[in-house]
Amino acid sequence: MMDGYNKIQTMTEEAFDVVVVGSCMTDLVSQAPRLPKAGETIHGHKFFIGFGGKGANQCIQAARMGAKTAMVCKVGKDFFGENYIQNFKDNGVSTEFVGQTADAATGAASIVVNDAGENAIVIVAGANLLLGGEDLQQALPALSHAKVLVSQLEVSPDTSLQALRLAQENNVKTIFNPAPAIPDLDPDFYRASVVFCCNESEAELLTGVAVATVEDAGHAGQELLRRGCRSVIITLGSQGCVVLSGQEPSTGLHHVPAKPVTAVDTTGAGDSFIGALAFYMATFPTMPLQEMVSRANQVAGVSVQKIGTQASYPYKKDLPNNLF
Ligand code: ADP
Repeated sequence: MMDGYNKIQTMTEEAFDVVVVGSCMTDLVSQAPRLPKAGETIHGHKFFIGFGGKGANQCIQAARMGAKTAMVCKVGKDFFGENYIQNFKDNGVSTEFVGQTADAATGAASIVVNDAGENAIVIVAGANLLLGGEDLQQALPALSHAKVLVSQLEVSPDTSLQALRLAQENNVKTIFNPAPAIPDLDPDFYRASVVFCCNESEAELLTGVAVATVEDAGHAGQELLRRGCRSVIITLGSQGCVVLSGQEPSTGLHHVPAKPVTAVDTTGAGDSFIGALAFYMATFPTMPLQEMVSRANQVAGVSVQKIGTQASYPYKKDLPNNLF
């Protein structure tokens, strides 16, 4: 039997840098000359399977940068679930808290892309919606000792909020990504967020402030800050992002521009950014948030120069030394 001291010491030694409570989705992508009409069958020219889901994407980006990570999620007892678990293992993510259920299929996104680049997508969240309080309790030893906890809204919002609250109670830093955004978000989400990070359309939906410019993002950010989070980051695609921190009201808004790059596919850029940010918050806890954000911009900037979601996320070896 271990005594209390040893237990704590063992837990600290095993502590994860980043724990993500969130979604896994298998992307089933067909490329075709055009989108089929109702009742129609057409031939496409290419099919591929990709790993997606905001939670898993963010976790994998953090892991590829060198963070010790664990994913808390649920997949089906099916081929896609097995495949996803292997994907986590291949990326060095702990699968100790990846549950498998026979009651729903692994989350899937069926995507058709036409030659003009337009798409039609059906998402079935499936097993993701069965991630609940019991799963969080099982993961509590990891969750309560993590350096950073990250959650989004592709699992049940109740589960996301509960994860944030558990982290807050245990003084674990939280990053909340309100994506996909839902109107009338429970106000506790703001209060439980150390960093509240969203893109321009999510900021717009949550605040009602139209976000087209850096200045607009500043206004939306002020509103989000008023709701109780400690810091707000609004990502602005090629314009980088804005950062607002409640601890420095006099200095207000900081625009952190992205370096110009040739973007070929920006799918999942926001998740790459958040995964990188989680890595920085866990690894360099005293680094100013603006510096972390500037580095996360550069990581996400690398991801947009390659096609694919997780397939485009850089590893530590692909990034310049000055980002570490
Ligand atoms: P989302 O994927 O949620 O829509 P954004 O499009 O705002 O998120 O992108 C997230 C981050 O990715 C940006 O803050 C920026 O750092 C980087 N990024 C996205 N698009 C570009 C681009 N065209 N050029 C350079 N960086 C980009």
